[in-house]
Amino acid sequence: MTDGWMARIDGALAQRRREQTYRERRALSGGNDRLIRDGNRQYLNFSSNDYLGLARHPAVIAAWQQGAITAGVGAGGSGHVTGYSLLHQRLEQRLADWLCFPRALLFTSGFAANQAVVGALTASGDHILVDRLSHASLLEAAMHSPATLRRFAHNDADALKHLLRRDCAGNRLVITEGVFSMDGDRAPLPALAEITRAAGGWLMVDDAHGIGVVGEEGRGCAWAPAGRPDLLVVTFGKAVGVSGAAVLCAAPVAEYLLQFARHLIYSTAPPPAQIAAIDAALTVVRRGDALRQRLWDNIARFRRGAAALGFALTPSDTAIQPLVIGDNLRTLQLAQRLRERGVWLTAIRPPTVPPGGARLRITLTAAHLADDIDTLLEALADAQL
Ligand SMILES: *Cc1c(COP(=O)(O)O)cnc(C)c1O
Repeated sequence: MTDGWMARIDGALAQRRREQTYRERRALSGGNDRLIRDGNRQYLNFSSNDYLGLARHPAVIAAWQQGAITAGVGAGGSGHVTGYSLLHQRLEQRLADWLCFPRALLFTSGFAANQAVVGALTASGDHILVDRLSHASLLEAAMHSPATLRRFAHNDADALKHLLRRDCAGNRLVITEGVFSMDGDRAPLPALAEITRAAGGWLMVDDAHGIGVVGEEGRGCAWAPAGRPDLLVVTFGKAVGVSGAAVLCAAPVAEYLLQFARHLIYSTAPPPAQIAAIDAALTVVRRGDALRQRLWDNIARFRRGAAALGFALTPSDTAIQPLVIGDNLRTLQLAQRLRERGVWLTAIRPPTVPPGGARLRITLTAAHLADDIDTLLEALADAQL
């Protein structure tokens, strides 16, 4: 008798290996920093989303420690039971004030926030229109919704307009990212917001890679008055250096999510100590112009050097600077060659990116030194892309 479960699992694993898309984790010692250690070798880290280097910031670490002592390491329940503290309430208020929305709701992760919002808001008969290159958490949420899902061409406002004209039944939710996680380019938010509003729909923007990095005080991509979304998701695991997320929205939407978002109701609230750390990190982010300047300098240095070496750069002006290679095996081999030269880069392969779009996803941070960027460029030249 064949075991159906094992046959499915073995088949799927074999296919991943055949297609060079098998994923493996590495247990690194010493945490995520400018340098990372794997075994007894040290590497320059160009794969981290900790864009401002806040995961190691003394004030953030001290706030976590102090928060653990005064308020504990566990929330003890969901926010609807006893997991919602004055710390949580204050951070929500602070986020709402900072980003100029009536309300903010905290979530344990960006993945959960996206699932919760799309799942709770959309119903059968609605239309979800999502940029084709949106993050897996958004696409997955849209696929699970009983609403009709349509993907529009990446950053193409006209394509969205066309779809909105065609699909006019039900409520329309347009979803995009501020800065695209695998490409580093930005969405044309003013155009998307205008088109969506004209059609009577709502715009949802996931600004996981824009918050803390882009805009005045690091307020992200959705800050400019012309491109303001109806729903904004920000995450704290990237430039904020910690973990968690928030949804910013109108007051009735927040109340609705509190009633119907299962990820809030049936899940333990983020630990108070973590909330204290996010709060401290937010203070650093808001005053972080010097850190952001270091990041912009590193981005400019990389782009200048890479262009001089003749690499095909994407239009990204953000911390995410992919070198698209195409073939999966070749991308893996290049990542390996770079590793031999002391540079840690992750080979990003389908299905994280479209088929044929395998790439080296380089992320630059404020923690990198100019010398680090030069080492990266030398390694790239040596690796013969
Ligand atoms: C990382 C990421 C998420 C998920 O956020 P987590 O807090 O890590 O779960 C969601 N959306 C985008 C665009 C991301 O890059």
